[in-house]
Amino acid sequence: MDTAKSTKRPKYSRILLKLSGEALGGETGVGISPRAVQDMALQIHEVRGLGVQVVVVVGGGNIFRGLPGSERGIERATGDYMGMLATVINALALQDALEKIGVATRVQSAISMAQVAEPFIRRRAVRHLEKGKVVIFGGGTGNPYFSTDTAAALRANEIGAEVILKATKVDGIYDSDPKKNSKAKRYARIKYIDALRRQLKVMDSTAFSLCMDNQMPIIVFDLFRPHNLKRVVLGETVGTLVTG
Ligand code: UDP
Repeated sequence: MDTAKSTKRPKYSRILLKLSGEALGGETGVGISPRAVQDMALQIHEVRGLGVQVVVVVGGGNIFRGLPGSERGIERATGDYMGMLATVINALALQDALEKIGVATRVQSAISMAQVAEPFIRRRAVRHLEKGKVVIFGGGTGNPYFSTDTAAALRANEIGAEVILKATKVDGIYDSDPKKNSKAKRYARIKYIDALRRQLKVMDSTAFSLCMDNQMPIIVFDLFRPHNLKRVVLGETVGTLVTG
């Protein structure tokens, strides 16, 4: 029998939250906004309170991206490593905000930097999660020519997350750009194949196919709305769910 309490049970026990660098940059999307980082930490704290195991993959676009860098004359691979280093800066900012509100964390980096982060070790990451720590993955995949969305898809599969929650500034996936078209329609749910057919940009193609091939569900939602992460985790219809 369903009780009021049981309906409040989280739908997921292990989630991977993908935070873009832009989200950590707050209003402007550039640099680090302490306020935005704090808000995100509070939302993570809230779902930890429900007993959900949380992995975070952070982006770096608020600091540096390799591709635009290469258009300005920086060698692509060098620029990509700069972008990966940027994600570690963001990981440390988020770690700081989480620890300040009493959430135990570990940062694991795909690029070795022993003084500031553990190396990425899958089994150790899983152990941290089981002990209730939030694990923040910095350094992307550790390889140039990839993205942190691909890192999210890869790590979600590796550590057995049930879903990727992709935090954006928009509240889901639309059939056209809601900023340009007032009649744009938001999908509550869409299949991978339909998202591909309609050329809806959910993630870059490498990340998206990793999710599709491994049946990893993705929820695109707006993390700037208070309590939205908790609502997603409780199974409320927030944003857009992409599945098979
Ligand atoms: N990057 C990379 N390999 C990875 C992840 C990231 O080379 O596995 C580099 C790439 O240059 C990218 C930058 O790091 O542009 C920042 O990551 P991303 O653009 O994915 O961040 P976000 O858009 O989520 O802020």
